[in-house]
Order: sequence, then C-alpha cells, then structure tokens
Amino acid sequence: MHYPRSTGEFQSWFATDADCLDFLDWLRWPGGFVCPKCGLGGGWAVADGRYKCAACGKRTSVTAGTLFDRRRTPLTVWFTACWMFAAQKDGVSALSLQRALEIGSYPTAWAMLHRLRAVLVRPGRDRLSGTVEVDETFMGGEEAGLRGGRAKGKKLLVGVAVEVRQPRGYGRCRMEILADASAGSLRPFLTRHVEPGATVITDAWMGYHGIAGLGYAHVRRSQRAARARGEDPGKLLPGVHRVASLAKRWLLGTHQGSVEDKHLQSYLNEFCFRFNRRRSRSRGLVFYRVLELAAGHDPVRYRDLVAEPKHKAKPPAAPAQPGHPPSIERPRAARPWRTAHLA
Ligand SMILES: [Zn+2]
Repeated sequence: MHYPRSTGEFQSWFATDADCLDFLDWLRWPGGFVCPKCGLGGGWAVADGRYKCAACGKRTSVTAGTLFDRRRTPLTVWFTACWMFAAQKDGVSALSLQRALEIGSYPTAWAMLHRLRAVLVRPGRDRLSGTVEVDETFMGGEEAGLRGGRAKGKKLLVGVAVEVRQPRGYGRCRMEILADASAGSLRPFLTRHVEPGATVITDAWMGYHGIAGLGYAHVRRSQRAARARGEDPGKLLPGVHRVASLAKRWLLGTHQGSVEDKHLQSYLNEFCFRFNRRRSRSRGLVFYRVLELAAGHDPVRYRDLVAEPKHKAKPPAAPAQPGHPPSIERPRAARPWRTAHLA
C-alpha cells in the first residue's frame, strides 16, 4: 500500500519533516534520483538533504521545482493540509484549516489551499466522452467591496459539461467561466472539454448551432417542445442541473459563499476534482493523487494567487508547538511506501 488508509495511518507515516521528504523523494524519483538540470540519473545525498548530481555536480533538493519549493511552512503541516483537503469529502475552508493546523494567519491557510487548487488541473488530461450534457448557468456574485466589506458583484456565466451514463447516473464533469453565451465562447469551451465523436446534448440556444461541424453528434432539446408536451422545461438537462446545484450548495456550505469572483474558477476546479472522484474507494488514494500532482507541479507564487497584490505575502507564523501537527504521541513511521516500492 503506497498511501495511508486512515487518519491514524497518515499520522504514523508522516510524523516528521524527514518522513514527508522521503515520501516526496520516492514519489518524484521512484527509480532513483534523476538530475533535473542534465537529465542524467545517479548522484548522492549530501548533508543538507539535497542530492548532488554525479554527472554535472548540481545540487537539487527534493522539493525544488515542485509546489513545496522554498516554502517556509514545515512539510508536516503541508502534508496535513493535503490530508484534510483530500480526506474530507467536501474539502476544507481556509478558516477550518487555520484552526486545525494552528497556523498563525488566515492568509497562510488561504494561500495553502489555493496552491493545492492550482495543481488540480493537469495539462493534457482526457476530455469528456460518450454522451455529454452541456449548458450554462450563473454563479458567484461576490466581490471584495470597499473598506473590507463585501459588495454584490455581477454573477458570472459558467459553462457546465457532464457525462451522462446509461441507464442512469453521471460520469465526470467540467466547469469553466465563460465571457458570454455566444457561439464564440461556447465552441472553445466544448472543444477544450469534450472529445470529438461524443454525443452532445444541449438546449435549443443558438450559441450551440452548428457544433456538429466540430465533430459532435448534436442532440438539441427544445424548451418550447417540452412545454408543449407538458414536461418541465427546467429538467431538459438533468445532469448539468444536478452538477450546478451541487456546486452552488458546496460553495455555500464548505466555503459559506465567501468566494470572490476572481477566485471562482479555482473553486470550480476543486469542485470538479471532488465530483470526479466521488466514488473513489479510498480517500487515501485521493490524498496520494493530490501529492503526486503537487510534486509534479511548478511552484506557485503568492502574487499569482492574489489577483491584485497590494501587500507583500505574510510569512507563515511558526507552529504553536514544536513538531506540530501531532497532538498525540505518534510512533515512528516504518516508511511503508518504501516496502511497497520494492514489492
Ligand atoms: Zn546533472
């Protein structure tokens, strides 16, 4: 087993920063160290926990060039954040994370979660396929107001696509903020997220006119015809309706609606990541996936997270107790991932 199956197991595996570092090392170089500079394998560990390349002599730390690059937050705190993010079905708000980790400032907890959200969309991931419902809906409407208050912003238009399974149920979904509902916005949304050859179900909106030319089998469901048949026109596209209402409920629940428009897309990415793994048999596997994405992702700078950087990033405060987050006495990790790798 290369991921922890329970919170207890998680705590015993990752008691120290060295445990976390060793896991990242294994995740990043399962076949042994490979130099990121010259691409050659082989080297040796040097005193400060870094590797020295046998070929070019460059020193590389395990976290260099990953999401955890040059972070002042201890890796144990990072791993606990990843665990809470992944193991809780609906995720975690920045405020709960700050309280649970006893980290000094809200912005630190907020930035950790945003860094995790930033790794969730893997470039080159598979597009949706089979039968896919597509529609648009309005979401958000939160903006930072003057004097720190909140003012009602404009609602944003969000494209929603969801795979429909036979005889019932749904597959994966994608959500993306659109400039408007014109063909010029809807067509790129479709081609980014839906594989050609798929059957695409939409309403009769003219923005979807002609998408058969993009390689889709197009099924249009007319609201007017549904009304004439005595059916509820709001249930023409039950899949997108379901996904959109789940996403809105999640934003109001986990995040209490306090999502600013400029960050809505990253929350939608998190929602889709969760929705697409809702049937995952193990939360530990989701944790493993998040870590894998983080280890394979470039560092994310604070100024890329805050759309309007007015203040310099606050350095994370030191944890309340040394060796935090363990609040209970934890046994030394046996590093079971190493055995898993050898097996
Ligand atoms: Zn090298």
